[in-house]
Amino acid sequence: MAERFYVNCELKPGLVVLQGAEAHHLAVVCRLRPGDAVCLFNGDGRQYPARIEEVSRRSATLDVFAVESPARELAFRLEVAAPLPRGDRAQFLLEKLTELGVTSFVPLQTARSVVHPRETKLDKLQRHVIEASKQCGRNVLLHVRPLVEWSAFCRSAELPARRLLGHPGGEAKREEAAGRDTVAAVGPEGGFTEEEVALACAAGWRVLDLGSRILRVETAAIALAVLFG
Ligand code: SAH
Repeated sequence: MAERFYVNCELKPGLVVLQGAEAHHLAVVCRLRPGDAVCLFNGDGRQYPARIEEVSRRSATLDVFAVESPARELAFRLEVAAPLPRGDRAQFLLEKLTELGVTSFVPLQTARSVVHPRETKLDKLQRHVIEASKQCGRNVLLHVRPLVEWSAFCRSAELPARRLLGHPGGEAKREEAAGRDTVAAVGPEGGFTEEEVALACAAGWRVLDLGSRILRVETAAIALAVLFG
């Protein structure tokens, strides 16, 4: 597969100029040269094969010569909500959820949350989503949503009908029909409080046990994305 680059603008056949970090990646990291083939995407669901016309350290001029629409998205909505784990583990989580086709990630504020992400941190996570999309071939970006309180989120009217909460001691996981809109939530390292679980149950969430060991936030979130993706 040709090296993929992300641009934050409309794409169509013809010339397009790549600048900033993506141009640096093309010219300095990948050492691509005029005549080489690349593939552009902007998150609109399509990808745009292009050939390099000119390249410098700061910019590259590319000629888009085709528009393709490969089917790489899930046919339904899969939302994952979790408190952000610390540091590199948040990056790891977003990378894996992107690869697994998750539609959106909702950072949760819960009673026992320890990490309180700021806007800048969420922007950085969106950057990790782009990097993962370049690598895995996704042409629609996983959407990193703003931070939300669990008590408001779990009762939100916009949630899919299938709502699943990972919590040790819940009902045993079992074979589930794939292909349905789903939201899956995970608690912080200290777990959801009993009040938080009760609130979710009252709002129609099912409580699922993921096995006899305690998983870290990112493992539980990835496991749910695999089970219901
Ligand atoms: N000490 C906490 C564990 C927190 S682990 C407790 O006992 O609840 C972080 C989150 O991962 C949990 O809130 C839960 O959402 C999920 N999780 C971890 N292990 C799980 C398991 N075996 N079954 C279901 N959910 C699990």
